[in-house]
Order: sequence, then structure tokens, then C-alpha cells
Amino acid sequence: MKIGFIGMGIMGSRMAANLLKKGHELVVYNRSKDKADPLIAQGAHWADSPAELAKQAPIIITMLSKPEAVAEVALLGKQAFLETAVENTLWIDCSTVNPSFSRLMAGEAGARKVRFLDAPVAGSKGPAEQAQLLFYVGGDKKDVEAAKPVLECMGKAVMHMGSHGMGSSMKMVNNVILGQAMVAFTEALAFGESLGLTKQTIFDTLASSPVTAPFIMFKRKKFEDRDFSVEFPLQWMHKDLHLAVDTAFETHAAMPAANVVKEIYALAMREGLGEKDFAAVYEVVSRKN
Ligand code: NAP
Repeated sequence: MKIGFIGMGIMGSRMAANLLKKGHELVVYNRSKDKADPLIAQGAHWADSPAELAKQAPIIITMLSKPEAVAEVALLGKQAFLETAVENTLWIDCSTVNPSFSRLMAGEAGARKVRFLDAPVAGSKGPAEQAQLLFYVGGDKKDVEAAKPVLECMGKAVMHMGSHGMGSSMKMVNNVILGQAMVAFTEALAFGESLGLTKQTIFDTLASSPVTAPFIMFKRKKFEDRDFSVEFPLQWMHKDLHLAVDTAFETHAAMPAANVVKEIYALAMREGLGEKDFAAVYEVVSRKN
């Protein structure tokens, strides 16, 4: 099946590569063309704009940084794809965005007879490469069924969470835990080191303990080498907590801890750590020597 893929970042490039590997014909677009070159070398076709891509593909997948980027590419930019998408096109937005934005996009798509799913992912660079992502999907059941064979080329599970916006809702919940667990861990790690415990002792002791979130252990080497090369960019964790607390304002949920933790990531951003892995928040709470 011919699939259009927009967004060749850390996640999108790996997800699109898996679609190619599974035999789909792929048309790609990225704001910076050079990031699409490796996929073009493997057989993907390049589209000069989102609008050009939409004319060719009955399924469009977007994997972009934030709501503003999705709005630009889909709706507001000069070459936005919703203006040229063929009737009955299925648009699957895998970007992490807030639920009310997903519902807005569903409405804009529907007004142009384009079907829409919000389908953000859980899992980072490694799972994206190995087609082991989890998709949290919001939208009509029949559209989810139509999307499933495509999403299954990139992930190990497709979970239908409900109507439009419910996939994004689940993703917000996921990342509120992820962002806070990382800060809780780095603060405890730095505290332990201030007491004279080594990183090795702390990791070895906590490895088999239920108090530590399992994902922390995947990051162990980053802390030991103090090398925060990127898997999940810290700037997108800051963005996700911003979107989550904004969403909580809409639903009258109280998020006192998430608001504080969001600001710890803001401090990390100010220290120039935005493009590092989100584990680099450790640099904010630990000693520099
Ligand atoms: P990334 O590497 O920074 O890629 C971001 C993509 O968005 C790039 O293709 C970028 O284009 C594009 N973009 C940004 N602003 C744009 C604009 N105004 N117009 C057009 N394109 C624009 O990020 P990523 O890690 O792949 O993450 C993508 C999404 O997945 C984010 O929503 C993130 O929160 C989510 N996510 C990431 C992970 C992870 O572990 N990395 C895990 C789960 C979910 P350029 O190449 O031109 O900059």
C-alpha cells in the first residue's frame, strides 16, 4: 500500500524505515530534506511539499515535534496537506500532542472528508527501530481496524482508547509518569552520591528493587558515562509536561507535582540541555564535578 510519511526525526525516520522493510511503497516529506536522504536511498519517493505528498497517498502518517508543527504541516502552512488530500484519505497523527488539539485536527480533517486518528506512541528510539512501539489510538473503530495492519509494521500493539483525542489522553498520562519518575530518580541518585554512595552501588541495589521504574535501568550507562546522547529529547519531555498541565487546566484536574517537575525541565532547557536525552535532567540536580 502507498503510504505518505511526514517527519523524519528520531522516531519518524525509524518508523518509516520499518514500513519500507515490510514492503510498503513510501512517499516522504521532511522540513529539512537531508534527514530523508537515507530513506530515499532505500527506495522511498520524495515529495516536495506536504501538499504534493497528500495527492499521492491514501494514508498519511505524521510524526512531528509538537502541535504547532502538526498544524503548520496539515493546515496553516502554504503547502499544507489537508487542502490537497483526496476524499477518504486516512490521516494518522503519531506526534505527541494534547487531546484538545487532536480533537481540533479531527474536526478540520472531517470537514475535508479526511478520516483522522490520533495514534501517539510509547517507546523510544530503540523500540522504534525494532518495530516494538505501542500505539495509543483515538478515533472511529473502523478507521482503527483499517490502520492496524500499517501500525503493526511499526509496533507490537495497537490499543484503541476510545474516540478522537483519547489516544493523546493516554499518552499524556504515560508521560506525566515518565517525566516525574526520571526527576525523582535523578534527585535520589544525586542525594545518594552526596551521602558517599557510588552510582554502581545505587544501581546494583535498586536493579532488583520494585521502587525503581524499569525504564531507568535502560538508562544506566548514560548516568555511569555521564553521556546523555539523545533517545528522547529533553525539550519534548518539557513540551509534554506543558501540554499535560495545560490539559489538566481544561479538565479541572490538580497537577501540583507535574507543574513543579515541568519547571525542573525548564531549568535544564536553560542550561542548554534541550537536545540531550531527558535523563540529562540529572545535570540540574547533581554536582558538576
Ligand atoms: P525530532 O527528532 O526532534 O523530530 C521532530 C520532527 O518534527 C522533525 O521531522 C522536524 O523537522 C519536524 N518539525 C519540527 N517543527 C516543524 C515545523 N514547524 N514544521 C515542519 N516540521 C517540523 O523528534 P522525535 O524524537 O522524532 O519526536 C517526534 C514526536 O514523537 C514528538 O512529538 C515526541 O514528543 C514524540 N515521541 C518521541 C519519542 C522519543 O523517544 N524520541 C518517544 C515517544 C514519542 P526537521 O527535521 O526539519 O527539524
